[in-house]
Amino acid sequence: MNNTTDVGAVIARRMRAEHRALAGRWFERLLGLLPVDARSIFPTDSLLDHIPELISQIADYLQEPVADSIAANTAILEKARQLGTLRHRQRASLHQILREYQILGRVLVTFVGEEIERMDSAPPASETVVLVSRLHQAVDVLSQATVETFVELYTSTISEQTARLEEFTRMATHEWRQPLGALQFGVNLLKQPGLEPDRARRAWDNIERNVAHLVELTHKLEAVARVRGGDSAVMQEVSVATVAAEAARQLREVADAKEVQIRVSDQLPVLVVDVGRLELAFVNLLSNGIKYSDPAKDARFVEVSGDSPSDGHVSISVRDNGLGIPEAALATIFRRFTRAHVHHDAVLHVGGVGLGLSIVEDCVRAMDGRIEVQSVEGVGTTFVLTLPLLSGRSDPS
Ligand code: ADP
Repeated sequence: MNNTTDVGAVIARRMRAEHRALAGRWFERLLGLLPVDARSIFPTDSLLDHIPELISQIADYLQEPVADSIAANTAILEKARQLGTLRHRQRASLHQILREYQILGRVLVTFVGEEIERMDSAPPASETVVLVSRLHQAVDVLSQATVETFVELYTSTISEQTARLEEFTRMATHEWRQPLGALQFGVNLLKQPGLEPDRARRAWDNIERNVAHLVELTHKLEAVARVRGGDSAVMQEVSVATVAAEAARQLREVADAKEVQIRVSDQLPVLVVDVGRLELAFVNLLSNGIKYSDPAKDARFVEVSGDSPSDGHVSISVRDNGLGIPEAALATIFRRFTRAHVHHDAVLHVGGVGLGLSIVEDCVRAMDGRIEVQSVEGVGTTFVLTLPLLSGRSDPS
């Protein structure tokens, strides 16, 4: 063992002993330099857990640079990559990541300088230079691994979003074309001189129906864009009952008009969930329960209830005693633009575009959950949502 290795071993030991304090120094310097709110970058301690670990591994490398090259140390590279994933999820910028590593390098170099000063006999300057250059090399390799992962994820998110946008534009223009064509036809018809009143009335009815269809289609497409657009979720701890009650409040008038009672059980759990998506799912499910209620039944209802949580998950049911869904349609009911009661629309005085359930499914998936349907024609329909008590927190660390 030569002198350089001895100095390296001493510094490495000290660095390992001080790895948490050094991570603390790094964090303080970072907050002093970046105009950020600490909690917005570090909502959990996972990032702070990564930094002390990287520092320990850098210390190992300083001690044995040849035997255990940093670029071949898969454990430490994996940690650096996880950091890239974490920072991507936290929507950090590339500039921020590079700055973080730059600060880490400076904190560690300062520490090496301080430790050398504390030594009884200072090592030759050349040894210090070698040690510091190893330190820089280690930080560079780690920063490269983090940045590579970050850029990979960033690129794939952009191409996913572009593909989704293209699909959305195709779908929207396709769906708008038919009612717009019908409107154009109706308007041209009404411009004809001497049109019989009966035909004119039918043309107006048609226009009214198509305008209503376009309004609903536009609202639903807005919801699809919001849910699928990769909006950042606002995670909150909420009682499912509160969210369901809010959805019910929004639908009260429609429910009253159709004499459907909306019931929300008070035995529903508390979840950490994206409240906006959960509410959107309830609004669509409850509104379907009202829309497809059975006029032949005296007491019509749609109710939200839940089982006690098990295995970190909870099941929430939205059950109605409506028309039910024909068995043949059940397998495809969540697909976009699929409708099972299209021939009854006029009798039921309802209209739809067939997007509600696909929006619900997108919402539930985004909350890391799943949805199932059971239905018997003439008896009613139950949608069962299975959601994790804590969604959207899958952490790579
Ligand atoms: P929309 O209601 O606009 O047609 P959805 O995607 O919300 O679109 O629903 C798709 C189809 O599933 C509906 O057209 C209807 O036939 C059927 N459906 C959905 N929910 C219910 C329900 N609670 N009871 C009976 N049928 C339902």
